[in-house]
Amino acid sequence: MVKPKTEEEIELLRENAILVSKTLAEVGKTVAPGVSTKELNRVAETFIRDNGAIPSFLGFEGFPAAICVSVNDVVVHGFPSDYVLKEGDIVTADIGTLYKGYNGDSAYTFPVGEVSAETRRLLDVTKASLYKGIEAAVAGGRVGDIGHAVQSYVESFGFSVVRELEGHGIGREMHENPGVPNFGRRGQGPKLVDGMTICIEPMVNAGGRSVYLDRNGWAVHTADRSNAAHYELTVVVRHGHAEQLSTFDYIEKDPKINF
Ligand code: MG
Ligand code: MG
Repeated sequence: MVKPKTEEEIELLRENAILVSKTLAEVGKTVAPGVSTKELNRVAETFIRDNGAIPSFLGFEGFPAAICVSVNDVVVHGFPSDYVLKEGDIVTADIGTLYKGYNGDSAYTFPVGEVSAETRRLLDVTKASLYKGIEAAVAGGRVGDIGHAVQSYVESFGFSVVRELEGHGIGREMHENPGVPNFGRRGQGPKLVDGMTICIEPMVNAGGRSVYLDRNGWAVHTADRSNAAHYELTVVVRHGHAEQLSTFDYIEKDPKINF
């Protein structure tokens, strides 16, 4: 049984969610051809620490960097590296914060310069599927309603949903119950209750849904080497509609950011 969050806890989660949202925008301002993925990590870590928070991914189960940076066929959990972004790439920043004892966690896939029409469509469909999932996350429903909304939308465009990884509850721990898969059936799974805080995070492949784990034990690649996109927001489940705690507004209302 998942314990709903109090209003005080929801406000602490909101503070984290806003900080993560702003950090994603800082990364977005930095993404460009010629920039290394290590540099994105540096920008994010500096911003998080300057705001009095801790990058929660650093050291999490041994993860070696402040944020996950996943390029092209890497779905999630990429290591920042000396790789230099080039025109036409896509790069996902997945960022977590720990602040005042609570967690933030959100992700965004950025185009690097101009991307192909097919890649553009992958980004647009994946992000739209996240909003479909959020619409389905209302008190009285089931976790399967979210997965069904994401999956049916994504598959209607011929893309596929990764099944090995899922969203999650969030609070004092970064990953709490319930798990929130990006596939499923309406009316199935744990019940959604007022005050539940969850991260919804579709991971979508342009090609098939199969993935494999990199030799480094972390990065998850598409098996067919097709591109993958990943968008994540934190929401609080309410009667009527899910309320977003994190937001992409800092990215999408900034004219300097290519998104
Ligand atoms: Mg995340
Ligand atoms: Mg997450």
